[in-house]
Amino acid sequence: MGKKDGRSNLVRKKSKKLKADSQPILVAGVDYKMQLPTDHFSVSQLGMMMRCARQYMFRYCEGKVIPPGIAMVEGSSHHKAVQSTNESFIEKGKHLPVKDMEDIFCNDFLVASKDISDWEDDSADKVISRGRKLITSYMQDFGKNFAPIGAELEVKVNMVGVPVLGYVDMLDKTSLWDLKVRGRAPSKAEVREDVQLTFYAYATERDKVGQIVMKKTATPGIEILNSWRDRSADSRWLMRLISEYVQQISAGLFPPCDPTSWVCSPRFCGYYQICRGGRKGK
Ligand code: SF4
Repeated sequence: MGKKDGRSNLVRKKSKKLKADSQPILVAGVDYKMQLPTDHFSVSQLGMMMRCARQYMFRYCEGKVIPPGIAMVEGSSHHKAVQSTNESFIEKGKHLPVKDMEDIFCNDFLVASKDISDWEDDSADKVISRGRKLITSYMQDFGKNFAPIGAELEVKVNMVGVPVLGYVDMLDKTSLWDLKVRGRAPSKAEVREDVQLTFYAYATERDKVGQIVMKKTATPGIEILNSWRDRSADSRWLMRLISEYVQQISAGLFPPCDPTSWVCSPRFCGYYQICRGGRKGK
C-alpha cells in the first residue's frame, strides 16, 4: 500500500469518529461565527497565536511572509533526509545508508540556503559538518531500529468545528515521533505539554509520543525524549485551546505579546521592525 493510500485511510477513519467533537467550546457571552483567514487551522498556527497573536495577524491576515532563516533551513533539510530513509523503509523494507542521507541533507541545504542573508554565527561548512554528525548519531541511536509505517503523514481532522491540519514526522505501529533540530533539548515537562504532539496523538490514535532532538551543541548528537498523551483529558484541553484561539481570531483581536518575552526580539520575530514602528533592536 502506498503512502497516499495510508494517509487517506487514516484521515477517513478519523473523520468518521469525530462527529461528537464538532461543536465549538464557546466563551460565555461571545457571539461566535468562525472566520479564519485560511481554509484550515493548524497546530503551527495555534503555536504562533499562543506565542504572539500579532505575529499571526502579520503572517496570516496580512500575508506578510518572512523568508526562512538559517535555523529553519537547516531543520528542513534534516527533515528531508529522515523522511527519505523512512519512505525507503516503508516502500522497500530497508533504511537508506547514512551516506545517502548525508547527500540528501547536503544537496537540499545547499539549494535552500542560497537566499539566506543573515547566517548568524554559522556558515555552510559548519552546518554541513554538523549535519553529517547528527545524521550518523540519528541512525545509530534511533533510526536503524525504527520501523516506520508513516513519514510526513498528513492528518486533517475536525476538532470543535475547526478543520485542523498537521504533518506527523514519523510513526510506527504504536508510537509517533516529532523531529526537532535545536540548540538544546527541551525538558520532559515541555515535551509533555507540546500541543503538536497532543494533536498528532489525537489524530493518529496513539498514546506513546516523543521527540527526537538533534542537538546543535559543541558535540552534536541526538536526544530521545519519550512522553505520552491522555487521549481524553489532553485532547479536551487541546480542543479548548483551538476553540478559544479561533474565537479570538474570528473576533479580529491580535494583541502584541509581552515585550519581555524571548520571541519579541529582532532575532526571533521577523516582524519586529514593522510591529515596533521601525525600532531595530532591544
Ligand atoms: S515584535 Fe513582538 S509583539 Fe510584535 S509581532 Fe513580533 S513578537 Fe509580536
